[in-house]
Amino acid sequence: MSDFAQTVKQQADIVKVIEGYIRLRKAGASNYSGLCPFHKEKSPSFSVHAVRQFYHCFGCQASGDVFSFVGKIENVPFPEAVRIVAQKCGIPLPKREFSSPEQAAESRQRTKLLELHEAAAAFYEDQLRGPEGAVAREYLAGRGLTPEGIKAFRIGWSPDSFNALRDRLSSVADGETLRASGLFSSKEQGDGTMGPIYDRFRKRVMFPITNESGRVIAFTGRTLETGDKAGPKYFNSPETPLYSKSLVLFNLDKARTAIRQAEFALLVEGQMDCISVYLRGIQNVIATSGTAFTEQQVGLLRRHTTNIVVNFDPDTAGANAAEKSIALLTEEGFTIKLVTLDGGLDPDRFIRERGVEAYVAAIRGAERQSDYLIARALRLFPGHSAEAKLQQMNYLLPHIRRMPERLARDQFAGDAAQKLAIDSAVLREELRQAALKRRDHIEARTTPLTEVERILLRALAITDPEHVESRRAAAQAITAQTAFFEHLGTFAALQALAGRGAKDPMEVVEDPAQRALLAEVLLAETKSPEEAEVEGAIQQIQERSIEAQLRALRANIAEAERRGDFTELTLLTQKKLQLDRSLRDLHNRRPPQS
Ligand SMILES: [Zn+2]
Repeated sequence: MSDFAQTVKQQADIVKVIEGYIRLRKAGASNYSGLCPFHKEKSPSFSVHAVRQFYHCFGCQASGDVFSFVGKIENVPFPEAVRIVAQKCGIPLPKREFSSPEQAAESRQRTKLLELHEAAAAFYEDQLRGPEGAVAREYLAGRGLTPEGIKAFRIGWSPDSFNALRDRLSSVADGETLRASGLFSSKEQGDGTMGPIYDRFRKRVMFPITNESGRVIAFTGRTLETGDKAGPKYFNSPETPLYSKSLVLFNLDKARTAIRQAEFALLVEGQMDCISVYLRGIQNVIATSGTAFTEQQVGLLRRHTTNIVVNFDPDTAGANAAEKSIALLTEEGFTIKLVTLDGGLDPDRFIRERGVEAYVAAIRGAERQSDYLIARALRLFPGHSAEAKLQQMNYLLPHIRRMPERLARDQFAGDAAQKLAIDSAVLREELRQAALKRRDHIEARTTPLTEVERILLRALAITDPEHVESRRAAAQAITAQTAFFEHLGTFAALQALAGRGAKDPMEVVEDPAQRALLAEVLLAETKSPEEAEVEGAIQQIQERSIEAQLRALRANIAEAERRGDFTELTLLTQKKLQLDRSLRDLHNRRPPQS
């Protein structure tokens, strides 16, 4: 972490920063709680520790410091999160807060690429208005697009030329930037070097792709020709320093206000569908452009809503992507409904043929995800045979297990049992189990935290200099006498903390389940444990460990007696005497004087 980031972290109040995004309520001496912004929930499992400056969600295990929170909720990389927090706290930014010359160069390049894309968008718009654009204007009018709509989405036309855009932009940027923009192609030559650049998009209707601030960062080009020479129907910008397909949701910049107002987002398959639906007044619409949702896109959307209505055609090539998207959104706690339009029409054609009111009605009548999936299971595996039922079940079970909320799983499993007419006790039990336990969910610990573990965790997390001796005693015991602690449920956390040096306690415990235990202890803590308390806890753990060994030994001795195995008996008895002695020593031991 840079010095500047360190300074910002010290001065920032994590509670205030997080309160800028969600409502927090005081829940203890120095901790606050609220509804987690990273997963859907109805009762708060999200906590913030004001003194230790961390947040932790016991529902989805999201956890970290103020930068991790801002990075996650704003979906920005670390340096950007530092800048945002600095600004929020009124800490003046150094003139240029770049950690390396590479970063500075990268930032300059991004600025240039944005300028290039702006110039390219204006050029394509011009071309659409010109004589060459007539064929495209005709196509767009045929799709019901008015000049206002074309202007709103900055739709354009790339002329039938290999150098029209290149000539226009060569005065705006250097060759390296032009190559990096993704707006041009070039061929590898015999000697391995790249040949001269030429326009990538030719004779295509151009749809700009914008980032969340509405700046053009890439294009999709649609050909109007058919046949072998036409190339693919849709052609996208490649991945560039500006554009990464997995980080963008088409139309989110225009749709986000409407999404918040409507409290749901409408997800359609293609950009043309999205534009068409938007221009007819349904403005909370976004598109993924035929690919499955990524986690980053889920993160983008979550900042605006966790309710989504999906309008994909279940039987197109996109069906696979749609199912993957639905699976991911379910796991991330979104509430999903699905629209299937009559006659298998896409939204654009449906609206043109039946009118926008009919489309609004279809959205209102969207099916719950569970109903949709049960119907789909019945369609995919028709019949009432035992075999068909098994296939239907196997299709549904993963979907059920994926739902984060117990109640939703219960309801889904109940509906499935009823609608599939499952009367087999075995299958019913499978459904019940699926509802009971979420797959991949972090296993609930089997043994509750003991008081001595709490003391040790608190001791190892000590940051105030007054109590360093408590921390030292705990760390030393765990490092020197590991065997005594291994059976503890929190052993991994204890071990990580014992070797943490100057690092933050919450930072060094990586296992989510272990970190959850530590967060639980730290959020409940009132004061650091005294040295005597720590010594007492260590002694208790040692005693219990020996007692457990003695219990096992006694059982073995009884067994050896019964068998009349005297060699074994002698060995076991010697061992028992040893353990008895260790236990006696422990009882007599005084905490060492430092
Ligand atoms: Zn959460």
